[in-house]
Amino acid sequence: MTAVASFAQSTLLSRLPGVRGKLSANESLAGQSWFRVGGPAEVLFKPVDTEDIATFMAGCPADVPVTVIGVASNLIIRDGGVPGVVIRLGPDFARTTTEGTAVTAGAAALDMNVAKVAQTAGITGMAFLSGIPGSVGGGLRMNAGAYGGEFKDIVTTATAVTRRGQIVSLKNADFGFTYRHTAIDPTMIFTSAVLHGTSGDPAVILQEMQRIQSARGDTQPIREKTGGSTFANPDHDPQGRKSWQLVDAAGCRGLRVGGAQVSEKHCNFLINTGTATAADIENLGETVRRRVLETSGVELRWEIKRIGIPLEDQQS
Ligand SMILES: Cc1cc2nc3c(=O)[nH]c(=O)nc-3n(C[C@H](O)[C@H](O)[C@H](O)COP(=O)(O)OP(=O)(O)OC[C@H]3O[C@@H](n4cnc5c(N)ncnc54)[C@H](O)[C@@H]3O)c2cc1C
Repeated sequence: MTAVASFAQSTLLSRLPGVRGKLSANESLAGQSWFRVGGPAEVLFKPVDTEDIATFMAGCPADVPVTVIGVASNLIIRDGGVPGVVIRLGPDFARTTTEGTAVTAGAAALDMNVAKVAQTAGITGMAFLSGIPGSVGGGLRMNAGAYGGEFKDIVTTATAVTRRGQIVSLKNADFGFTYRHTAIDPTMIFTSAVLHGTSGDPAVILQEMQRIQSARGDTQPIREKTGGSTFANPDHDPQGRKSWQLVDAAGCRGLRVGGAQVSEKHCNFLINTGTATAADIENLGETVRRRVLETSGVELRWEIKRIGIPLEDQQS
């Protein structure tokens, strides 16, 4: 039988400040992740608003690690779980409003919903969000993008909470956006963003969204338990090859480790075939990286974020 990680003996909860949201110990996370793998959070915090996060961060002891997750569509949560506090923003952070050609969205708003709101309001430039199954918070952190658009192009400002509990306003230039990456302080928790587009025809925008939906279904294993593109496309490959081409050239299409497999449909996607552990998925990714390095000399960079600890570390 597979061992199950647990933080049942943890006393962390007693060291944390009082909040208006919910704090709970040893909370399972696997069901929240697109890969459907991973151990529990030592403590899970579901805040009710930005001030609640600020109060929590100001009172949270400096030695306690804090990790924020969105809808976990770009995450491997390791089997030993996540020590410290995991913050997950709920429906209170999912509101969207429009004014002119701007959309204000909470960090938990789904990218797809932002795309729909923008389309209804006749705001063009956000249709690409309908191709990304994440939330605004994850998109800001990842500079998520698809079909010619990325967050860098649409962010005007964002609100965030620092590790010390200050509420700050950030401008586009503060993010240091590069391909699927931001240079901003990794402890910053985004709570909302103002996104901008230009005026457009709702019917034309709808057609664009439909085109994106259909292209995704044709090329990506979107019905699988997956984390999207595993590796960022290399910045400086002299031949301009994309990650999937390098993985394919290394003979890794369909490769398996335990219950994890490189997708046959799109070989920059790893999938949980049903029985994978997080370790299977991560080991498969590392095997692919090694083989690509051997065959083409390119060191692939993980685009998927990995959080938490391996099972053996939790049990030692
Ligand atoms: C089938 C599939 C297709 C995909 N296609 C694309 C694609 O075309 N383009 C693309 O860019 N991505 C794609 N992805 C990956 C993923 O959807 C994006 O990276 C998305 O932006 C992640 O958002 P999330 O809410 O799931 O973040 P998570 O996966 O939960 O977290 C990702 C990172 O963001 C951080 N984060 C999350 N919320 C916050 C917050 N509020 N404040 C601060 N940091 C935060 C986390 O700490 C973590 O480091 C795909 C994924 C899947 C499963």
